[in-house]
Amino acid sequence: MSGRTRAKACPERTCVGCRQRSARNGLLRVVMMGDRCVPDLRGTLPGRGAYVHPTTSCLELAVRRRAFSRAFRAQGPLDTGQLQQWVGRTASSEV
Ligand SMILES: [Zn+2]
Repeated sequence: MSGRTRAKACPERTCVGCRQRSARNGLLRVVMMGDRCVPDLRGTLPGRGAYVHPTTSCLELAVRRRAFSRAFRAQGPLDTGQLQQWVGRTASSEV
């Protein structure tokens, strides 16, 4: 354990669902493409990103709060179908 230095090697991001801070690699980056939210699986997609825990509960919270629209400053509702599909698949296979 090296608790002497507070290294910033592990940047933290806030989950738009549960609003808790987490290490970036524990969160899924989401970007807006057109009017859709898509998972940025490689972390390489351009544009503003939002972070959410890759769990159905956090994603549901984010959708219900319209957190993605707010994060992306979108004018209207965003289609999160693809995102929910991906999280649904991933979450169920990991548990
Ligand atoms: Zn969360």
